[in-house]
Amino acid sequence: MPNPQSPDPDTITNVISRHTALRPLSGHDLRGVCPFCGSTAFRVRPAFDTFYCFGCGEGGDIRAFIAKIENRDPVT
Ligand SMILES: [Zn+2]
Repeated sequence: MPNPQSPDPDTITNVISRHTALRPLSGHDLRGVCPFCGSTAFRVRPAFDTFYCFGCGEGGDIRAFIAKIENRDPVT
């Protein structure tokens, strides 16, 4: 059976980390720069598999993040 300690490559933290740098916040939450609006009020809650941005109001689960990041306008 799978080792519960092995990292899951598809966790919301790993997926979002490919788009913006995340740093530890209080507890198990993470913070970073929002890949959608550039606000630093971007939060990831791995325990709940959710993210939320207090700057632009984007949020949801891992599927919502992927859908949003693939549909955003290119920055570069
Ligand atoms: Zn935002």
